[in-house]
Amino acid sequence: MVSHEDLSLINSDNFEADGLTAHQLFGSGDGLTYNDFLVLPGYIDFSADQVRITTQLTKGIQLNTPLVSSPMDTVTESDMAIAMALCGGIGIIHHNCTAEFQSQEVVKVKKYKHGFIRDPVCLTPTHLVRDVLKASPEFRLQIRENWGGKLLGIVTSRDIDFKMKEIMDEPLEGLMTNFADLTTAYDGISLEDAVKVMEKTKKGKLPIIDKEGHLISLISRTDIKKQRDYPLASKDANDQLLVGAAIGTRDHDKERLARLAEAGVDVVVLDSSQGNSIYQINMIQFIKKTYPQIQVIAGNVVSQKQAQNLIKAGADALRVGMGSGSICITQEVMACGRPQATAVYKVSNYARKFNVPTIADGGITSVGHILKALALGASGCMMGSMLAGTTEAPGEYYYSNGVRVKKYRGMGSIDAMESKDGEGSRQRYFQSDNENVRVAQGVSGAIVDKGSIHRFVPYLVNGIRYGCQDMGVRSLEQLKEQMYTGVLKFEKRTASAQIEGGVHGLYSFEKKLF
Ligand code: NAD
Ligand code: IMP
Repeated sequence: MVSHEDLSLINSDNFEADGLTAHQLFGSGDGLTYNDFLVLPGYIDFSADQVRITTQLTKGIQLNTPLVSSPMDTVTESDMAIAMALCGGIGIIHHNCTAEFQSQEVVKVKKYKHGFIRDPVCLTPTHLVRDVLKASPEFRLQIRENWGGKLLGIVTSRDIDFKMKEIMDEPLEGLMTNFADLTTAYDGISLEDAVKVMEKTKKGKLPIIDKEGHLISLISRTDIKKQRDYPLASKDANDQLLVGAAIGTRDHDKERLARLAEAGVDVVVLDSSQGNSIYQINMIQFIKKTYPQIQVIAGNVVSQKQAQNLIKAGADALRVGMGSGSICITQEVMACGRPQATAVYKVSNYARKFNVPTIADGGITSVGHILKALALGASGCMMGSMLAGTTEAPGEYYYSNGVRVKKYRGMGSIDAMESKDGEGSRQRYFQSDNENVRVAQGVSGAIVDKGSIHRFVPYLVNGIRYGCQDMGVRSLEQLKEQMYTGVLKFEKRTASAQIEGGVHGLYSFEKKLF
């Protein structure tokens, strides 16, 4: 039994100073990284699945999860953007490519229809069975059409798998099911109706064609069976997935922007390491005047002074981070930047006065870092290395010392600048044809296979919910409110505290995260 005196002492909230407010943590003048501090736990009287992680990406766009994939050519093209949006976040399509390619990627996201396979593999009648294997090793679906033309027939594994070895060099012509014998449906059919057709005809694949007979997409029975629901999906008022795209701040970027606007992009990111420039201010004002329906994320910034100019120009959100990215050498080369935790706290604390959300960009390597960024006032977390190496990231897997990896590189790396598709970087860096001395700001490397976004992002989402529960907050708004009112407490971590906080003292271990 607790005595009467003890009870009145307990109820008096009479603590010695325990933990620091965010204001105190960042008041010392030292620049802090996510690893330099921890959040002290709060009180739990709710379950983790009750935690709401809805957030504002920009003034005008709300997301069900605070997760954003970075506009990098080894991170975000349409496959990544679709997967991120289905899982409740958003993908920003990179611009190290032609404007035509980038806007097509945006179209693919906006036109994405759940259950419909876009871009099914197409070959011609003269292709051989071995070409089918090369084009789609999993051998799931093979459609053949003449080039740029009408659907002529379909070849599936059932047509060839029993006698595969003997018929490797046979043309597809004699093996396919001809168009006349195919069941097809016209573009515009709903997934529900398409499934009904497949049930009735007992077919495994249903090609969707237009009035002229061109193949538009394909529905596969096995894929439908695998379908999940995406209750968190990020959608616009027309029920289309949300998507962003990055652009630069040069004159030719206005042409790029026109194409992106036509493609239906929801938000553009002005992609720069140092956003506080006359170029960016002019571009924000141009976009807000010309395309008021498009939200603008400006940046990058790390100080309140930088943020002031971009907010004044009309930015709908700010991207925060300079030199903190995993592939980044900006701080080393340019002597500019800021440790990321300090940058996120300082900019967010200023931008909130104008209701401008901030996106913590770079340096996130774990769910804990996402939680810390949110606890410091960020509304969104942009990630490169966390999402690179997934199935949906651009590029092929290869083996390095027996480990399955994908390429991951900085957009300011020599590799990205010199890539054959690297239109964006080239136009940005090589201002004249004679300019041949490059100053790289990033490196190129490899990252381990992480599997699919559809498994990885739900892990991040659950991790955020559990972390919020430990902090005793039921929503991201409450997290911010507690941080700004000083209820949420932090503590600095010494070097030995950081060692203690990691796995230690084991002879060997396996780190399996989900
Ligand atoms: P940038 O386009 O902002 O700058 C490149 C150069 O072009 C700069 O010298 C800039 O001042 C100049 N410039 C821009 N607009 C101009 C205009 N209208 N007229 C004349 N000059 C103009 O690109 P960046 O900062 O070099 O970044 C390149 C890529 O690398 C981006 O994808 C960026 O996200 C990434 N990066 C990020 C970081 C980071 O810490 N977040 C650091 C380095 C690079
Ligand atoms: P990561 O999540 O730590 O891998 O960092 C990704 C972020 O690094 C991106 O969103 C960009 O802001 C930044 N970035 C991209 N390319 C470069 C580069 O070449 N140099 C420095 N930073 C980069």
